[in-house]
Amino acid sequence: MSDWVVPLSDVRLSASEIEAVMRVYQSGWLSQGPRVAAFEAAFADWLGGGEATAVCSGTAALSLIWAVIGLRQGDEVVLPSLTFAAAAATVVQAGARPVFADIDALERPWVSMATVRDRLSERTRAIVTLPYAGAAGAATELRQLADDHGILLVEDAAHALGARGAGGVCGRIGHLAAFSFFANKNLTLGEGGMVMCEDAGLAARARLLRSHGMSSGTWQRHTGPVGDYEVLEPGFNYRLDEPRAALGTALLARLAADNERRAQIAGRYHAALEAMNGVDAVLGERAGEKHAWHIYPLLLDPRLDRAAVRGRLHRAGVQTSIHYPPLHMSRAFADSPPVCLAVTEDYCSRTLTIPLFPHMTDAQCELVIHSIKTSLLS
Ligand SMILES: *Cc1c(COP(=O)(O)O)cnc(C)c1O
Repeated sequence: MSDWVVPLSDVRLSASEIEAVMRVYQSGWLSQGPRVAAFEAAFADWLGGGEATAVCSGTAALSLIWAVIGLRQGDEVVLPSLTFAAAAATVVQAGARPVFADIDALERPWVSMATVRDRLSERTRAIVTLPYAGAAGAATELRQLADDHGILLVEDAAHALGARGAGGVCGRIGHLAAFSFFANKNLTLGEGGMVMCEDAGLAARARLLRSHGMSSGTWQRHTGPVGDYEVLEPGFNYRLDEPRAALGTALLARLAADNERRAQIAGRYHAALEAMNGVDAVLGERAGEKHAWHIYPLLLDPRLDRAAVRGRLHRAGVQTSIHYPPLHMSRAFADSPPVCLAVTEDYCSRTLTIPLFPHMTDAQCELVIHSIKTSLLS
């Protein structure tokens, strides 16, 4: 598929997983139905409970969350600048204002109580936490802060499938959470997402708005006595389809093993980076936490030219990326007057993400380590 010797991430499906998808295509029912319901049940089970609503992407999950809580013009949502654009974009599309918070420290690249508290106002409806790279960060403390202020904590849990913080599994620490099953995520359907709700009423509303706000679905009318529907609210079409739901259920069975392999590779990177000058490992597993190792970001010495280092890695066949360019400095979301988020700006100028996927070979892992070592020297 590509010329990289070690791509940033890679997908490999087994014959039986592909077979599970094929059977759905042969069944004659492709749109949201029993396999979506089965995937939601298996997913909630995997997280140890909660209400799961499957949708067509992680961005749809975020957008649905704002619709479900009735976010509107005049509202504010406090979120990290160090995150993917979708969280901020969906807030803007809901008519509300994203308010960016700084990260806690270079070695704790997530929004903290202090950085969020500074940004709260009487207009704040929700706080978004990003379990960056798959580390729960300050989610548990932020939940307390949100509860104390009578606002909601939303986890953008796209990196965090299988992660755990002091306050429980990621995806069930906040009042609501959005997962993504995009092609590079720990569980991938190509495209897909999941909304987790603690509250059953909000979950019912998520299911309603996911499918046009209609009182019954096509599958129910196909299989049950109900022939009619009523449109109760203006909704979306954010449905997931049956083939991808079947793939999701199949992939859940190996998620724990995949994450274990990610952790092993991360451990190897960590040990190798500790012995190198000019580069630091950012994230280690803290006591009482489990890391999902969605990506492996490292931190370069400020005197190094990151673009040159990336160029040398590129020539060695090693793909890299940057998670993320800071949102508060982007053309889409920059505030005027501009805010300064000093730690985020420093972090974003020095971070580099190196390849990580479960079926990476030892040789690929060694090549990445060796290439970093030589690209720092030249
Ligand atoms: C991938 C990702 C998303 C968006 O998910 P899609 O499924 O691509 O829409 C949102 N937030 C974060 C942090 C992500 O990594």
